[in-house]
Amino acid sequence: MTTPLPRLAIRGIPTAHAQALRQGGPDAHGQPPLRVVAQGLGNPCRHCLQLIREGDEKLVLAYRPFDHAQPYAETGPVFLHAADCPRYEADALPAWFAHLTPALVRGYSAEDWIVYETGRVVPGTELADTCRSLLARDDVAYVHIRSKFNCFQARVERG
Ligand SMILES: [Zn+2]
Repeated sequence: MTTPLPRLAIRGIPTAHAQALRQGGPDAHGQPPLRVVAQGLGNPCRHCLQLIREGDEKLVLAYRPFDHAQPYAETGPVFLHAADCPRYEADALPAWFAHLTPALVRGYSAEDWIVYETGRVVPGTELADTCRSLLARDDVAYVHIRSKFNCFQARVERG
């Protein structure tokens, strides 16, 4: 007998946090976000989880995708649309994540510690299946997807 794989719940970073950063609120290093014009095609917004169009203004800031500081709470650079955008809330990954190749995936416990044997480097086309298999584990509370540069992309939970 096999347990059905869980559905996915993908959310952008909380809207209240995105709004505070757009108003110049401090990033994870206590600094105001930088405002720059997006160049090229590799500018994903972590609120709407869509790519920022070249020429649009973006925020560059340090983000810690955990509620509080602790040894496993990695902090790194992310982008946000400088203008308002809708928070991503869906049960499927954004289609462009298929191009996140390779992507880094790791599961975290309910205590926000990395579950070591869950670390994977996978093609973007395998992200959804990898997230489902990791979330089928009892010891994994949620999964983080990161780019090959180790930049946080999205948190994935059970739907
Ligand atoms: Zn956005």
